[in-house]
Amino acid sequence: MRSDEVRSLVELDRAHVWHPYGPMPGRTDPLVVESASGVRLRLAGPAEGRRELVDGMSSWWSAIHGYQHPVLDEAVRDQLARMSHVMFGGLTHEPAVRLATRLVEITPEPLRHVFLCDSGSVAVEVGVKMCLQYWRSVGRPEKHRMLTWRGGYHGDTWQPMAVCDPDGGMHQLWSGVLPRQIFADAPPSGFEEVYADRLRELIARHAHELAAVIVEPVVQGAGGMRFHSPEYLRVLREACDANDVLLVFDEIATGFGRTGALFAAEHAAVSPDVMCLGKALTGGYLSMAATLCTPRVADGISQGEIPVLAHGPTFMGNPLASAVACASIDLLLGQDWAREVKRIEAGLHAGLAEAGTLPGVRDVRVLGAIGVVQLDHPVDMEAATRAAVREGVWIRPFRDLLYTMPPFVTSDEDLALIGRAVRAAATAG
Ligand SMILES: *Cc1c(COP(=O)(O)O)cnc(C)c1O
Repeated sequence: MRSDEVRSLVELDRAHVWHPYGPMPGRTDPLVVESASGVRLRLAGPAEGRRELVDGMSSWWSAIHGYQHPVLDEAVRDQLARMSHVMFGGLTHEPAVRLATRLVEITPEPLRHVFLCDSGSVAVEVGVKMCLQYWRSVGRPEKHRMLTWRGGYHGDTWQPMAVCDPDGGMHQLWSGVLPRQIFADAPPSGFEEVYADRLRELIARHAHELAAVIVEPVVQGAGGMRFHSPEYLRVLREACDANDVLLVFDEIATGFGRTGALFAAEHAAVSPDVMCLGKALTGGYLSMAATLCTPRVADGISQGEIPVLAHGPTFMGNPLASAVACASIDLLLGQDWAREVKRIEAGLHAGLAEAGTLPGVRDVRVLGAIGVVQLDHPVDMEAATRAAVREGVWIRPFRDLLYTMPPFVTSDEDLALIGRAVRAAATAG
């Protein structure tokens, strides 16, 4: 693209296009991406002297196989030749049925029913609706509140916002208007019996009004990039069972291998009543998410006065997204993905450890294919991003956090480059 064309695109972008979590008009110019392949984003014009950036973000956890993967491209083309979409009410098709069946096979028992929808936030909306409707249907409508721990992130629509971190998060503005849910303190990273007792006590105390507990298992993502002991998931499962409360795991960020287990629930060998999946579900190709539930939840809803789940997005079960999701899952499971994630974990450890000695760095932590450098001050987003771009790497810091979750196909050389860029960003930001 000529530089004046790039300029004009950026101006039109600023005039008309709203970006995530941004003001209108935007205050900073986004980089224009022309194409992407493997782990590299190709820019339309140079930034800090770079035309190509190694993607340290997997497009927000999703592009686990990198860009323009021949197998995924082929799956989309093949499906496109048949049909790109048909409505899901009264009709069905092979890609969606295959996907749902596959998801049931690879997630923990007894998750056996699948609601396909268009984004992670909607998957959480559907999950919360399932739980509330379950209790309504079995004659206990007073059980309509949710409990979670602080530091979480579950999406940007109404119900998910109500269970995001109420103070540090992005949705503080709405604290007076959102449904008021119940919050435990954020989970400590290691297992502490005192904290576990507080969780048990809180669940027992509110059991009469609680529909469900909802958490991100093992890794809290956009709420602060914190890790916690899987042992807490077992505590939650036991406390939920003892008090007749449902348990929802939001695995939208953690699913499909990111933490070193296929699903983070497996770290604790615990199964939830409802599980939300998204992000890496389609390998980053198309927007799709899924809410899975157990026969107990589905049967409960079916026995109600209104025995249906009143939810049905227009693009539910989209064939293109379903087909590429099936291909992405096959691609993942057809290789020794756990070894690749371990390799990335080792690469991130090696690349980020040094950052721990930099001034202004409070903590460095790595789990699976996730690396985090936490500063002792809010990051200067522009300076940090520019420093990483100068090293040839794309990262997107927020709050006091520099973090990376690269595609699983990132080479050791590119991991080293990401490490160098994060260190440069930590120094600059
Ligand atoms: C990203 C995310 C969501 C929201 O997904 P969208 O597709 O952005 O709506 C929900 N929960 C978790 C844990 C996430 O990481």
